[in-house]
Amino acid sequence: MNTHQSLRASDLLFPVPRSIEDREGAYRLHRTTTIAASPPFEGVADTAAALLGCKRGGEDILFKYTEGLDDEEYRLSISKVQVVITATTKRGAFHGLSAVRKLALINDAILPACKISDKPTFIWRGFMLDCCRHFFSVDFIKKLLDVASLFGLNRFHWHLTDDQGWRIPIDGWPNIQEVASRRTELQYTDGRTYGRLYTKEEIAEVQAYAHDRQIIVIPEVETPGHVSALLAAYPEFGCTGGPYEVQDRWGIFNEVLCAGNDAMLTFFEDAIAQVATLFSDPYIHIGGDECPQDAWEQCPKCQARMKNEGLTEERQLQSWLTSRISAMVHANGKQPIGWDEVLDGTEAMGLPDDLIVQSWQGIRGGLEASRRGHQVIMSPNTVGCYFDYRHLDSEEEMGNLGVSTLTQVASFTPTPPEMDEKAKGMVLGAQGNLWTERVLSARQAEYLLFPRLQLLAQQLWNPQDGDDNLKRLDLLVQYCEKLDLHCYRGAAK
Ligand SMILES: [Zn+2]
Repeated sequence: MNTHQSLRASDLLFPVPRSIEDREGAYRLHRTTTIAASPPFEGVADTAAALLGCKRGGEDILFKYTEGLDDEEYRLSISKVQVVITATTKRGAFHGLSAVRKLALINDAILPACKISDKPTFIWRGFMLDCCRHFFSVDFIKKLLDVASLFGLNRFHWHLTDDQGWRIPIDGWPNIQEVASRRTELQYTDGRTYGRLYTKEEIAEVQAYAHDRQIIVIPEVETPGHVSALLAAYPEFGCTGGPYEVQDRWGIFNEVLCAGNDAMLTFFEDAIAQVATLFSDPYIHIGGDECPQDAWEQCPKCQARMKNEGLTEERQLQSWLTSRISAMVHANGKQPIGWDEVLDGTEAMGLPDDLIVQSWQGIRGGLEASRRGHQVIMSPNTVGCYFDYRHLDSEEEMGNLGVSTLTQVASFTPTPPEMDEKAKGMVLGAQGNLWTERVLSARQAEYLLFPRLQLLAQQLWNPQDGDDNLKRLDLLVQYCEKLDLHCYRGAAK
């Protein structure tokens, strides 16, 4: 075990802290190690005791309050006799705990002495999990949340409604459970179905677990496209009245919400209010991507809506709907987020000022949204943020549609050179997205996520040179082994 003694904290931590000074010696974490905290950090100390397997009581590990550090900033001092984490906020204290956990995990409970001063670069450090195409258990979501928090991520974007399934319970609309929550698996001949709703208890459990780890949860309710599951449940919300099916195929479907239908708006008023109650954090993602306008062109109700609202093109109906749904989000005290297509067709209506735009079609949406004064989340599918894409351009690799190499992720920046300083100032951060059309199990999800999610975490916490990140791939694989994560170990490009 002498080798552990000689390892330095600076060789073991990922993301690499802003400032780290290695010192002589180490603190050995054991079952009798005690944890104490200043009053604001009692909750973090409880979490620490549970996660580190230590006891509350003495001051072997001390969470110490100080004034004047930034929101998520922490200081960590490890000596042979004590571990002291200093912060101003619970978030900062938690990040200090994550550093201690990582050292303990990767170095058999021996914490090399060091002094760290650290804080993240970007506020929004997230990942998205599509639980419509593949339904993930709460246990697996909790596993991912724990790992994400360990590497400094702080946003969980939970994709909960789509063509292939609706996952949020909505009281008073029984067909959501009876119809929208499951699809017939057409590749089988026996009529078997797939999927279900998450229960309210499960949704609360996921949030409590995330909040213990200082992660905000953002539910996504797709509008006005990607709604086949909802239309199957309530065909009157579509332009033709159906019949519609919860889809068991992948792609973009022409059947979307009928913009001329007031009953559909009534449903969303109720549904958004219920989602706003079920989810306690400040954001609701309203989708907005991949919405064809073919059905609207043929629909008398949609045409009447355009006439009444003074709209001259079908594409303006999407921004009309974005404004209506955003108003529902506002009415419930939340802030809306939309995929970058929400920028299209906005000449007549404009967009709500506080709408956060998530740029996925490359960086174009991010450039335009920031120019128009919107806050931006970057998750360009072109430069390493789409984790459903293959790791390599090879038929031997699993994945869908495209390629996101480790090299791309390792050098990713949410603020590319094409942005001027003003635009960069509107960028909150970035997200890695895992769509799950071709994901059949949690193990496959892990293989697609890791180590890409760890590399993204580094670039959002404390951006490094891509080559330096790639030199640490062995370390990332070691972390995955310790965390029981199935990960990609092939070439970086
Ligand atoms: Zn219509």
